[in-house]
Amino acid sequence: MTSLSRRALLGSLTSLLPAQTRKKIKITDVRCAIIGQSPVVRIVTDQGISGYGQAETRKVYLRPMVLFYKDYILGEDPTDVERVMMKIRRLGAFKPWGAAVSAIEIALWDIAGQVAGLPVYKLLGGKIRDSVRIYNGGFRPVFKGQEPQHFAEVVQQMKEAPEGFTLIKMPIGFHNPAQLNAMPGQWYDEPRAGAPHGNKGMLTEKGFKRILQSVEAMKKVLGDDVGLALDAGPGWMMKDAVNFCKAVEPLHLAWVEDLLTGDYTPYPNADLYRDLKMQTSVPIHTGEQIYNRANFKDLIEKQAVDVLGPDPEDVGGIAELKWITEYADLHGILMAPHGVFDGLIGLAAHVHMAAAMPQNFVAFEYPYGQPDWWYDIVEGLPNPIVKKGFIDVWDTPGLGVRFRVNAAKARLSPEDRGFFD
Ligand SMILES: [Mg+2]
Repeated sequence: MTSLSRRALLGSLTSLLPAQTRKKIKITDVRCAIIGQSPVVRIVTDQGISGYGQAETRKVYLRPMVLFYKDYILGEDPTDVERVMMKIRRLGAFKPWGAAVSAIEIALWDIAGQVAGLPVYKLLGGKIRDSVRIYNGGFRPVFKGQEPQHFAEVVQQMKEAPEGFTLIKMPIGFHNPAQLNAMPGQWYDEPRAGAPHGNKGMLTEKGFKRILQSVEAMKKVLGDDVGLALDAGPGWMMKDAVNFCKAVEPLHLAWVEDLLTGDYTPYPNADLYRDLKMQTSVPIHTGEQIYNRANFKDLIEKQAVDVLGPDPEDVGGIAELKWITEYADLHGILMAPHGVFDGLIGLAAHVHMAAAMPQNFVAFEYPYGQPDWWYDIVEGLPNPIVKKGFIDVWDTPGLGVRFRVNAAKARLSPEDRGFFD
């Protein structure tokens, strides 16, 4: 045997050694940079491996929230993901206060996958599908007005997009302040400025009809070729919500989202949702702002909704969301995770998670790179990313998306200059 082949043999035997004989990997640093407007978490280890996670693009204030958790997890073995999460999970809350915990969880899985030499979906139980369905909830042209024909024009363009989306979600009612503000007297309160989604109240007949007409116009364009879901609230009062759902029952919508609570509402209100669900055949959806499996207990056990949509970057991460999906499946509830602002590392996290989801998985909301140069600073995503409304699951270790460090460094603010060092 040559010395070269002996070395190769020794190398392959070393990789077969039991884990306890390998040097334990430790977390040595936790960092956060705002790249573009997107918070990125980097967990650094003592073995030259780093894991990355991301939070919603809009959360530019996240850096101190990430650093808050640092001292709790330094020195820990990042491949014992659950053990690390037990240290910090209880120190999170509803959106936006679960984002840092969630991004850290995703970065831990990225490390665990790289250490194991396996794609993250394998660590979540293995894939049950080779490609995952996405839905388009925010990748759309600008509305040219707020009349029904403008809604029709927008979904026409979304239907014709090269990604071939099979399911489209559109903002209406209180989720689309421009629609309600386009003319006075559409609901019995004044518009609330400041933090998003502050509007609430009883609709006037005029307001109710305008919303309904916009939905009918969109459905006319999409037909039964492409599914239509609606993001509607929060802020509807119960009777408006019931009457609206009954009016759209013939349209075979995929779901109506967050009519009563949602977005930044810091509670789920399962009893109210169950009242609504029992009065209509339209699938009722909620959950994007909810943190942690425990806060889904009532919604699931009371079968209060038909579809849940937690966001992996707010709920506590991808394993957390998969756990909720399994429990929802036992109760006949579907899963369509939120994700429009989750960025390209978030996209990778969604793909691995969706690959391993049970069969109550419908589709996840397609995150895109904001700004566009995000596509130039990472590699590892398929090209094109989306084919006929699906993304093929890839097999590279960890999340499988890596930074092109030189290109990414050029986008760092002075404050974050050492992020990749
Ligand atoms: Mg929503």
